[in-house]
Amino acid sequence: MSTRRRFVLKCTFSCWCGNTESIVFAAQMVFGRKFVVLRCPACSTHRIVPQAIRTDAEAASHYSSRTADSGLGSYDKERRLQITNLAMRRMAQVGIHFTQDMDVLDVGCADAEKLWALKEKFGFAAVGLDVDEKALSRAKSMFPTIQLEKGTILDFASRTGRRFDVVVCSAIIEHVVDPIVFLKSVKCLLKPNGQVFLLTPNSASLHYYLLRAYWRELLAIGEHIFLFNAESLNYCAHAAALRMEQVSTSFDVTYPYLNMKDLKGSLFSLFMKLSKMISRTVSNEMQGDILVARLQNE
Ligand SMILES: [Zn+2]
Repeated sequence: MSTRRRFVLKCTFSCWCGNTESIVFAAQMVFGRKFVVLRCPACSTHRIVPQAIRTDAEAASHYSSRTADSGLGSYDKERRLQITNLAMRRMAQVGIHFTQDMDVLDVGCADAEKLWALKEKFGFAAVGLDVDEKALSRAKSMFPTIQLEKGTILDFASRTGRRFDVVVCSAIIEHVVDPIVFLKSVKCLLKPNGQVFLLTPNSASLHYYLLRAYWRELLAIGEHIFLFNAESLNYCAHAAALRMEQVSTSFDVTYPYLNMKDLKGSLFSLFMKLSKMISRTVSNEMQGDILVARLQNE
């Protein structure tokens, strides 16, 4: 009992589920500061502390300054086609297919390249929402046929009467301070039979269990707050009166901080290939680094 207790940390940051006890899952030094990943024993969500972003205002200024020099908005045609096909494949995995008569909202659309490419292909009515003013102004000049809205989903849900057939939340829920408030706002914006496409890092993936703090691209320390597995995402969706209709996993993670041609990079690349092969033999939920899900009204 006493040995077990040493690994249980009473922390002041409670989980979105309300639980305040956490188990230390991983720790890492980044830029001279220690970051810890805590696992909530009640709902199995992982939480990165100290929390990178605490308020909507901080999020707006953080993401505006980041995308300003990230090179986003400079995709060529081939790259644009690749990201569109990958997005479509992941959506089809959980049964989301677009048609021309749909209203589609992309939450956290950044400079709206993916939304624009999907709109070009399917002809639906597209609305893009983001807190990042700079990304939106780039999107406005490049894609004038997309309706662009600045603000959080909570702001948007309170000021619009518009409802959507599909709300896309791709790599967003791990960035938000309160995932239940976020999903409740998503629900407000759905038509009665509307669908939510949700994509987020998979904290049940085999890679994460093996790499822990080195799962850097998906831990994204300094930006991500909560990390979900299928079970905790389902629990969170239910708290917002949404039902998880379908869930699956996907790979395609790159590690740009490593040079795959040197010894360290080559060994890491070999490890990734081997663990990807092993992943195929474990349960579906543990396979991919990315979790994709379709949610609907309960
Ligand atoms: Zn929890």
